[in-house]
Amino acid sequence: MDSQVEEIKARLSIVELIGGYVHLVKAGAHWKACCPFHNEKTPSFTVNEERQMWHCFGCNKGGDAFAFLMEIEGLEFREALQLLAERTGVELKPYRSQSTTGGSFIPGEGEYQTGDDERAPSAGVSKARVFGVLELATKFGEKQLWSPVGAKSLAYLQGRGLTDETIKQFRIGYIPKGWRHLADFLASKNFTDSEMLAAGLLIEKEGGTGGYDRFRERIMFPILDVLGRVIGFSARVEPGADESQAKYINTPETVVYHKSSVLYGIAFAKQAMKSEDQAIFVEGQMDVIAMHQAGFTQTVAVSGTALTEEQLKIIKRYTTSIRLFFDMDKAGQTAARRSTELALKAGLRVMIVAIEGGKDAAELAQHDPDALRGAIQGAIPALDYFLQRLMVRYNRHNPEGRRDIVEDFATLLSVMPDVVERSFWLKRLAETVESDEHIVAESVDRAIRARRVPTPNAGAYTPSVATPTASSHTPFTHRSEILRQRIGWCCLLDASLRVLLSQNISESVQAYLSEDPILGNANTLEAQLREAMFASEQFLEQEGLTQSTPEERHVILEPLVRQYLSELTKELQHEALKRIEYQMKQARESGNREEESRLRAEFARVLSEK
Ligand SMILES: [Zn+2]
Repeated sequence: MDSQVEEIKARLSIVELIGGYVHLVKAGAHWKACCPFHNEKTPSFTVNEERQMWHCFGCNKGGDAFAFLMEIEGLEFREALQLLAERTGVELKPYRSQSTTGGSFIPGEGEYQTGDDERAPSAGVSKARVFGVLELATKFGEKQLWSPVGAKSLAYLQGRGLTDETIKQFRIGYIPKGWRHLADFLASKNFTDSEMLAAGLLIEKEGGTGGYDRFRERIMFPILDVLGRVIGFSARVEPGADESQAKYINTPETVVYHKSSVLYGIAFAKQAMKSEDQAIFVEGQMDVIAMHQAGFTQTVAVSGTALTEEQLKIIKRYTTSIRLFFDMDKAGQTAARRSTELALKAGLRVMIVAIEGGKDAAELAQHDPDALRGAIQGAIPALDYFLQRLMVRYNRHNPEGRRDIVEDFATLLSVMPDVVERSFWLKRLAETVESDEHIVAESVDRAIRARRVPTPNAGAYTPSVATPTASSHTPFTHRSEILRQRIGWCCLLDASLRVLLSQNISESVQAYLSEDPILGNANTLEAQLREAMFASEQFLEQEGLTQSTPEERHVILEPLVRQYLSELTKELQHEALKRIEYQMKQARESGNREEESRLRAEFARVLSEK
């Protein structure tokens, strides 16, 4: 097998492979890009063509072509091997394990079968067998759809405007009425009931005496992963059949089907997402299919109501710009709003496609493709869209209405990681409601403070400092002051942490810290110190650390202080930018050109500080 690996590597261009996922730029002898595995704005991801290796200096991941594919597609080694073998035309020697699951079916011709070592631990069934049974079930469904028994379902799909070519491309199928049509067929191909169960195709009878088909008398929409493998189904009840049942049922969670990361259509959409630098999200699979048929092949759908972080992670491999094309009803708009928040938080650009008259994507694609094209081209930035809607919903001419608009919009702005972009929208909001920018900014600050929960050591320890108790007494305390105070307490509890205050910390932050009585070098009044000591012990109790040893405490407090420092750096910059911008506006209003341009330079300088 080693020789096969070497042969694949010899035939493969790692630059081409990785270039299919990220935008590589030649830099000297190497290639560079922004790392697809961690968030960054300056490239620290490098590819060495000669050595056929890659490495990221930001997150320290690296390896060969196989390692890259495994990481980015979430594959096991054998899956990556199979994929690259296909890509390079290297023929893998068929590998038969001494598997106790038996069976001689090898999915697809000449395809590679994985061995015992890759069993899904829960079910005792290998992933390869699960993929195999799902692939065969898809073929079975396709065959039924195009035979007389599927005539009614086929007519329905054609009636919705789908061409035969489209129906075949998306591999739509049909499972007839009956309890074990699919199961009996799969059993005849040497698949066991436990394998069908593991794939979500079978429902177990009570008492464990066999099972029956989960999908019966339904139109089957196979759900493919990024590599085009069937991982599950979404199944619609056959039109005219027992419509009292759930209209759509989906595959449950299995070893290969994870609802929160499913993107319907991704296998056919990923190329266009990259070339168009844009992804369109619609609500249902019929919408996806109709959009693809109409030429918008960068379209996908989520299976729940709103996007998840896992789905956005997948999308970000291909583009950072998304368009949400959801129904105009209440459910659709709620989903659009939640999806927008999540996508903004992930640093994506979000646009909204709004359709007059309440038509959905599938209808429009079928009946009025020109209007569809117009709507997609006319998409507007999500923040503009939601601001416009707020203006309709509330009356900006009275104080309550104005407050409602500002508070609602502030929750959207508060998720934006980019301070510059945020300040742009702050200004827009202030102009729209004809309010003072400074007052509007306060609302956003409050929303940010309410939202922010620092997690320096995710999973292991979550500090409960999101809303410090101090702020409830003094509502106008700046976040930076709270952070400085916290850093002071931590250093008081563990003096060795003080070294962090001078490592990689900018002068302005150091100056700010030194103004604090605990952190500064000035002689501290004994009373102040005692008070601070008392407060820091309370802090310790609040964090549940009273019983801890100094070593344990250090392990927990160190990442905390690091987190506070990085937050403080950003916060101070943010506050400074806001202050300057406010002064700039005042200078502008009073016609002081000289002061204004001085402030503009100051703004640029602060902005460029790292
Ligand atoms: Zn990285």
